Amino acid sequence: AGPTIVAGEILVEIMATEQGLGFLEPLALMGPYPSGAPAIFIDQVAKLGGGAGIVACVGRDDFGTINLERLKRDGVDISAVSVSDRFPTGSAFVRYRPDGGRDFVYNIAESAAGQIRLTPEARRLADDAGHLHVMGSTLSVAGLKEIVAYAAKAVRGRGGSTSFDPNVRKELIDGADGALLSALVDDADLLLPSGDELLAAAGVNDEKEAVAALIARGVGEIVLKRGAAGSTRFGADGSRIDCAGFLVEEVDPTGAGDCFGATYLTCRRKGMEPAKALFYANAAGARNVTRRGPMEGLAGFDVLDDFIAGTARAT
Ligand code: ATP
Repeated sequence: AGPTIVAGEILVEIMATEQGLGFLEPLALMGPYPSGAPAIFIDQVAKLGGGAGIVACVGRDDFGTINLERLKRDGVDISAVSVSDRFPTGSAFVRYRPDGGRDFVYNIAESAAGQIRLTPEARRLADDAGHLHVMGSTLSVAGLKEIVAYAAKAVRGRGGSTSFDPNVRKELIDGADGALLSALVDDADLLLPSGDELLAAAGVNDEKEAVAALIARGVGEIVLKRGAAGSTRFGADGSRIDCAGFLVEEVDPTGAGDCFGATYLTCRRKGMEPAKALFYANAAGARNVTRRGPMEGLAGFDVLDDFIAGTARAT
């Protein structure tokens, strides 16, 4: 029991309305949209009716306000979000390339997100939590490692669980963090890699070997995200479930992975069987890419049931 919590950056995203390369010329932009991987994840947990809280820092500005209002509206506990008077809310500009790639301009390190600290409110949130979800990409934010270490210990101490999305940007993590990363993988009740992250987390070149190695290290279950192709769940008992992707028109892929992960986790925390949780997660990830803005396609069970009823799947 107890809510699911995350810690990390809250941002706004501003996107180019036309495909192309980079931002070297003036072009039409659209936004701000509420964003930040931890915010996307935890908002989806709340939309599904799971208890949810976030440790973060925003600036005292409109970019912070649109995020906090969204999270509050959807039922996320924002009592551990501090507001900086000195630093603005972070931002990310994104433009989609014709080949499906993305160009980003980030303003995070020098933004309010760089001011996240283990405050008394953050400790209180962690002390009451039942589950901690950690994203590798977020660990490069200053102050995050201390919060994650504290929260992991607090949650585990109460018999709670953890999940880890190993989307680590190696260049942003220094060598000394190797131990923290290994512990996050080994202790994960649920590991949520996408693409080659599964192989990288295990340090081997074969999918089957990687799954066996990670399960042997103590991982409870592994759910591999495969973009438009769907996903696969590997159980500690050696079982494997494949779930085909829903056929949708992708408008904006940002946020699909976090929406997917939050849905799988919340369904499992509600007691759903892996196959059903995977099906809902696939639906949530697919629906999210049909909307512009990383959090605009997040959806509760009612909306997901309608989406499932009206959408074909790849065979
Ligand atoms: P990101 O880091 O961009 O948020 P990710 O790489 O972590 O994403 P993806 O594999 O892109 O995660 O997406 C997560 C899930 O969402 C997929 O496993 C799939 O179920 C669903 N999904 C994503 N893109 C599509 C798509 N174009 N069509 C159908 N389903 C999709």
